[in-house]
Amino acid sequence: MVAEFCDKSVESTDGFFSEYGGKYVAEVLRRPLDELEIAFKEAMCDNDFLAELREIQRDYIGRETPLLFAKTATHILGGAQIYIKLEGLANTGAHKINNAIGQCLLAKRMGKKRIIAETGAGQHGVATAAACAKLGLDCTVYMGEVDVRRQQPNVAAMELYGAKVHAVTSGSRTLKDAVNEAMRDWAANPDTTHYVLGSALGPAPFPDIVRTFQSVIGNEVKQQAKERGLDVAAMIACVGGGSNSIGFFAPFINEASPRLIGVEAGGVGPNAGENASRMTGNASRDGILQGYKSRFLLDDDGQALSTRSISAGLDYCGIGPQLASLGKSGRIEFTSALDREALEAVKFFAKNEGVLFALESAHAGAEAIKLAPTLSKDKAIIVNMSGRGDKDIFITCPVFRPAEWKVFLESELERLNSAKDIHDAKSMQA
Ligand SMILES: *Cc1c(COP(=O)(O)O)cnc(C)c1O
Repeated sequence: MVAEFCDKSVESTDGFFSEYGGKYVAEVLRRPLDELEIAFKEAMCDNDFLAELREIQRDYIGRETPLLFAKTATHILGGAQIYIKLEGLANTGAHKINNAIGQCLLAKRMGKKRIIAETGAGQHGVATAAACAKLGLDCTVYMGEVDVRRQQPNVAAMELYGAKVHAVTSGSRTLKDAVNEAMRDWAANPDTTHYVLGSALGPAPFPDIVRTFQSVIGNEVKQQAKERGLDVAAMIACVGGGSNSIGFFAPFINEASPRLIGVEAGGVGPNAGENASRMTGNASRDGILQGYKSRFLLDDDGQALSTRSISAGLDYCGIGPQLASLGKSGRIEFTSALDREALEAVKFFAKNEGVLFALESAHAGAEAIKLAPTLSKDKAIIVNMSGRGDKDIFITCPVFRPAEWKVFLESELERLNSAKDIHDAKSMQA
């Protein structure tokens, strides 16, 4: 077997993608980061490691994921053929498992038995907890106390997978505080512990590592498009931290075509606090935060601004350094979709294709709806459906069916208070 990433898994130079990236960390984290970089490069040239990774990708994650021709959607929009990469069919429901499995395997190869991770909405925590369960690793997930309260279904899933969820009570008690806490843990326990960072950002070498493990998406797409003889005009992905997009785009970055389009969360409008648009918004600037230099949403004092999006996974103040760099060079075009447009895209693809997009992925779907009619019918556009929307019912149901949802919640509460069903279920368990 050819180790395709041997010597090619690192695209950054000294951790930088042009002026973005780097390793702006406390002294104590330099050694673990340097050791990680060496171990990663070695692993990507180790055919046994790569064979084990491929086997788990196939049998556990369920790769390859399909490339679906969205026939009805294409017909309705009347322009370019729309194809959807169904990454949401991956085990655990989204692309995040690709990175979690890759990094957990790497940790095992490094002889580390303890995994820590940060999580905001909980998706990365769930993927990491599942990967640890699969690979027999001890798992602790740092999660802001506010997020723990808001995201109970994901907390319950992490605990089912055997992870310890550590509620972080410092600062704003959300994602950035969870990252700080995870960094602190790693600095204190570098010999036993690996920190599985969840997106293509943070200090080097994480952006290279996460892109490499996520590029399985783009590599499959390239092959699938070739087999079908598609004339691909554009590829579209949503951009939170940037892991699904950079993995989807990776094999095309150094080619002149197709157009690569990243879609950020436009929230409710273009101004500070209304969105999470680091490349397209009005409050975006260069900065250094959480170990790397990139484009951020910051106030005049350089502090992170609050962000807003209906999709929890896009609601972050920073973007991966390689994406910031490719945005500046023009290879990746950035645009945004409003909350309202993402909700419309969820409805459109559910009704016409029987595919339920995650709200994050629906931002890419919304751009496809705008772009397809402007292109000719012999062209194809490929949308990355980074995740499926089952996880979003607590957000979409109150929007689409508010009155019925309220009745449902009230009856659930009543059932819980009377506790009969739950006692029955518990006694069945015992
Ligand atoms: C987390 C998440 C995202 C955003 O993260 P990226 O690192 O930008 O990919 C997008 N889609 C889904 C389904 C997610 O869970």
